[in-house]
Amino acid sequence: MNQEEILYCQNCKNNETNLRCQKCNQLICYNCMKETPVGYRCSNCVEFIKPPMYKISVITLITSSLIAIVFGFIMGVISIFLIPIQSYYSFITIIGSGFFGLLISQILFIIINWSSNGKRGKKIQIIAVCSIILSSLIRLYISGNIEMGINDLNGFVYLLTGVIVLWDKFK
Ligand SMILES: [Zn+2]
Ligand SMILES: [Zn+2]
Repeated sequence: MNQEEILYCQNCKNNETNLRCQKCNQLICYNCMKETPVGYRCSNCVEFIKPPMYKISVITLITSSLIAIVFGFIMGVISIFLIPIQSYYSFITIIGSGFFGLLISQILFIIINWSSNGKRGKKIQIIAVCSIILSSLIRLYISGNIEMGINDLNGFVYLLTGVIVLWDKFK
């Protein structure tokens, strides 16, 4: 009777396994392996098949951030006319604010999508969300009525709609 050799995962070095990464052939356990559309991979090999849209260069990050700041500022100036700061709100103003949130986040999406060359992922999501937050802050700042911002439900609906739309679109 021949004795079987006990093999261990080369990644965590803890678990017994006889599975191998289908690319580099390294021993890999159930905990450490990643399932991909092209088979089981170790974490090193998964990095290589990350789609290019999720790889963002530093230059793209910087230019996208700058463009997001500039347009966040512009959208803030525009939104003060679309949604004036007031403590008054009704069904109509809330629906309107949600609509402008959709509209402005769509414009920001087109601009940031263009400036980042169609990138997706956490970094670009954060840039886009910061841009719409900046527009809300600019809107509050220009109005000169920061205290009223606390009761500004219209502005909150605008911001929330924008954040949700942009976060989802750059996923
Ligand atoms: Zn392992
Ligand atoms: Zn591998």
